[in-house]
Amino acid sequence: MGSLTPSRADQGLGAGYHSPQVDVAVRLNTNESPYPPPRAWVEALAEAVTGIDFHRYPDRGATALRAGLAELHGVRPEQVFAANGSNEVLQILLLAYGGPGRTAAVFEPTYALHSHIARLTGTAVVTGRRSPEFTVDLGEVGRVLAGHAPAVTFLCSPNNPTGRADPPEVVAEVLDLAPGLVVVDEAYGQFAPWSAVGLVGDDLGLAVVRTYSKTWSMAAARLGYLVGPAPLVAELEARALPYHLDAVKQAAGCLALRFRAEMEARVTAVAAERDRLAAALDRLAVQTWSSDANFILFRPLSRPAAEVWQGLLERSVLVRDCSSWPGLAGCLRVTVGTPDEDDAFLTALEEVL
Ligand code: PMP
Repeated sequence: MGSLTPSRADQGLGAGYHSPQVDVAVRLNTNESPYPPPRAWVEALAEAVTGIDFHRYPDRGATALRAGLAELHGVRPEQVFAANGSNEVLQILLLAYGGPGRTAAVFEPTYALHSHIARLTGTAVVTGRRSPEFTVDLGEVGRVLAGHAPAVTFLCSPNNPTGRADPPEVVAEVLDLAPGLVVVDEAYGQFAPWSAVGLVGDDLGLAVVRTYSKTWSMAAARLGYLVGPAPLVAELEARALPYHLDAVKQAAGCLALRFRAEMEARVTAVAAERDRLAAALDRLAVQTWSSDANFILFRPLSRPAAEVWQGLLERSVLVRDCSSWPGLAGCLRVTVGTPDEDDAFLTALEEVL
């Protein structure tokens, strides 16, 4: 019998990274938009699908999509790379710039997939700590980067799961300190007061990653992209599988850009609802951290996090249990939902506490 022993390059991955998808009435665990995309977008997509030549491979260069995204961000199409969700963007980026013999730096607590995908690609991971308030500590960044010379340094702004965006001067300083590529993950970028996309240039080692999964309300479409130097984008193109972006997805992404105003209106509504939710949480026995995104990290003070998570689940409310993540003992994360969903969460939480 053949051997089923997996590669050893990525040892220690355990069961991988999953958020439980259980059947509940109120699902606030994966930072999706609580609102669907506009009906007019669905109709435009249905119409576009009827015109696709399904017997032919899709446009390999995703020309129209990249042109649309380039226009949105004021860059050139050669500076845009798209893939099946921003996680796949990160994977291809690490195939190109990480790998055996190279190191990626992360500052915990942060998005777990940065270190997870790094390990999957055989990249060593060096971990720095954030400050007690979860901001990026430049002294720590200097120490980690000088000590390990990582090929890739990850920032996440706003940071998942802690919520704050990095100020421009922090990103500028990290760019100064980093010996390799700096990746700023802006999955929640439309909620932040500024974007690092404006810094991107062909001569700077900076790549900014974005997704359609959150603010564009298109998590089911699996589409993400990166804005970065044209030579970097060419390296990523060389590593992506042929025709990795299907024709329906390319059409979905292009058409969404016609509904930018609706997206921005949803961001405004979700941000207002987040502030209402944060104020309500402040009246309960929980510690909270202020958020520039569509989720809030909180720590129950009267009961262990696992019991609170379970108690919420029994009331058909699902949040994310972050209590086993680095630096997040006792913490849970709630995604901002509709006002009704958030009220259901608050009522359940109050009962459980
Ligand atoms: N980056 C961050 C910071 C995220 O929170 C997420 C989603 N949880 C992603 C990337 C991945 O998003 P997607 O693959 O759906 O684009």
